[in-house]
Amino acid sequence: MSGSILRIDAEHIGKTLRAAGRADAARVREVLAKASAHNGLDDGEMAVLMGVSDPELLHELFATAARVKREIYGNRLVIFAPLYISNLCANDCAYCAFSVGNKGLKRRALSQDEIAHEVLHLIRMGHKRVLLVAGEAYPRQGFRYVLDSIETIYKTKEGPGEVRRVNVNVAPLTVEEFRELSGARLGTYQIFQETYHPETYQAVHTRGPKADYDWRISAMDRAMTAGIHDVGVGVLFGLCDWRWELLALMQHVRHLEQAFGCGPHTVSVPRLEPASGSRISEQPPKPVSDVEFRKLVAILRLAVPYTGIIMSTRETAEMRRETFALGVSQISAGSRTNPGGYEEDEECDRVSIEGDTQSATARGQDAMRQHEVDDDAGAQFSLGDHRELDEVVRDLIAMKYIPSFCTGCYRLGRTGADFMDLAKPGDIRAHCDPNAISTFLEYLLDYATPSTRASGEALIPELIAGMDPGPAETSRQLVEKVRAGRRDVYC
Ligand code: SAM
Ligand code: SF4
Repeated sequence: MSGSILRIDAEHIGKTLRAAGRADAARVREVLAKASAHNGLDDGEMAVLMGVSDPELLHELFATAARVKREIYGNRLVIFAPLYISNLCANDCAYCAFSVGNKGLKRRALSQDEIAHEVLHLIRMGHKRVLLVAGEAYPRQGFRYVLDSIETIYKTKEGPGEVRRVNVNVAPLTVEEFRELSGARLGTYQIFQETYHPETYQAVHTRGPKADYDWRISAMDRAMTAGIHDVGVGVLFGLCDWRWELLALMQHVRHLEQAFGCGPHTVSVPRLEPASGSRISEQPPKPVSDVEFRKLVAILRLAVPYTGIIMSTRETAEMRRETFALGVSQISAGSRTNPGGYEEDEECDRVSIEGDTQSATARGQDAMRQHEVDDDAGAQFSLGDHRELDEVVRDLIAMKYIPSFCTGCYRLGRTGADFMDLAKPGDIRAHCDPNAISTFLEYLLDYATPSTRASGEALIPELIAGMDPGPAETSRQLVEKVRAGRRDVYC
């Protein structure tokens, strides 16, 4: 363990925010110039950017974040899908539909067979990366249920389809349990503090193990002590002032850097969305406006330039598009947040194409209506982006992003500090760009609709032409292998 439990220094945060006040344009530009060198920002500099409201300076902030994003991540966006295995939960989080107090929720823990079915749906869509999600109460097998589920996910294959990286978002574990998780071919372990503000935390977590703030904030220390290199942190925005949360998050990042020589691999930025049975989710106590949300993504990009930023389908397609440019590096697509949600979708599709057109359409609509009710009854929160994976990919192609399904780094042991050592001098791009192209081509050949495939095929030569000679040559070689029928080729 890293020693003592992190105590967020609230006094320092208060002072920093007050001192920054509304900085003049010269100071803002000075901070942006420093951020352009990819060296991150200190707390005072972050606070200066938080205070920016002048449209011209805001534009400069967004342009700087977009440039840093491009220079470090190129035009790649890594795609994953969440897989909700259970909505059983012992906690009473005021914002979540899975809360134990939400008696109206349809509860369900998927069996291993049901999980395998969900995985089949995901791999038929073309997914290769899955984020396993569960509430904090497991069926009778206890924590073994999570380990078995990971094994099921990796084991489930169909033709060229398979999941190559399983990330996990489950409640904090003991060091011993984290060791078992690490041994189960875990990708990233992810958990959000929700709010770093202790009083707000206590007010929204009144029952169950999650009421223990210290147990949660020390989870990453235990995970890293147990040998997990890639951890993902996050804040649920809307509970407390976003400026306060960002500065507290930075204290967590620095704590991990000091204790383990490496900060988090990713940061997630969920905003509170409406959830059944939760009043607070309909009226967040500290709502984050759309402009503030774009600002916080841009500031994060500049503050932790080498840490991935994850954008989920909680946000609308429009907001997602805007934040891709500002700093996001990983996105979910085609998501469902109810256990069994992918299978239910398929049932709707099946009903609507079977039998005679008239009655099939009616039955399809009935099934869809039922599905919407079920969705409300079993889902964690409402989604902002309902598009299927193929549509998201087509949209990314139109914006000239490379949709990447790459899992190369983690398969080759480029994780934690080793990953950062390659990322900081910019060497990682020589791997990421070719791997993104080869997995994108796999998707186009194996799963895309004809129109997505045609637009993707037209984009690939353009993308390779824009690369440096080394990565361009590696990309051509990988593309040749994929066209010759090989899969899962990476460098
Ligand atoms: N049960 C575990 C936990 O709470 O850490 C892990 C899974 S929980 C389902 C995943 C995340 O969903 C939570 O950490 C929280 O940030 C997010 N979440 C819960 N309710 C939400 C809501 N109404 N809107 C947006 N995100 C929400
Ligand atoms: Fe349970 Fe997690 Fe939802 Fe809280 S956020 S109620 S712990 S699933």
